[in-house]
Amino acid sequence: MPRRANLDLFRCVLSDMTLRACLVLILVCTTPGFSAPRPMLVVLQPTGQVRNALPVLTPHREAAAVDRVLTHGFSGRLVRLYAMEQEYLGQATGVAPEPAYLLLSTRQGGFPQFGFYLDDQAKTSAGWVDLHRSSSLAGRFGAMDQIFPHELLHVILHSP
Ligand SMILES: [Zn+2]
Repeated sequence: MPRRANLDLFRCVLSDMTLRACLVLILVCTTPGFSAPRPMLVVLQPTGQVRNALPVLTPHREAAAVDRVLTHGFSGRLVRLYAMEQEYLGQATGVAPEPAYLLLSTRQGGFPQFGFYLDDQAKTSAGWVDLHRSSSLAGRFGAMDQIFPHELLHVILHSP
């Protein structure tokens, strides 16, 4: 992972932060025992199918290790922020809250995305993050536990 990515990471986080995100982040940091009734993170894998120009994704068969790491530490904080943002948007717009979705794909780069099918269920506006499945989970620069929260913040900032 080049040094540029690190600079981009900080630049994006600092320049893109909205007041709403800041306020919610403060809430996450200061509210003990916040918990959502649904799973806050769902790890997905590709099916290779496309429906109505959207990828068809399915729950990952070996999500436990990824889920355990990404729902803790800084990544876990962003996952909880995402849950609170979804709850806020749900109350403001009536759109049902979604968990944070992470697709482990064969694409390089790490991207915030919108719209997919969860098996047969259309989620045309739900946000998701696309990371390469062979990325390191943690413990080195550019690992999933650094990139996933970064991309999840992009999803928050670009939520419809
Ligand atoms: Zn970025």
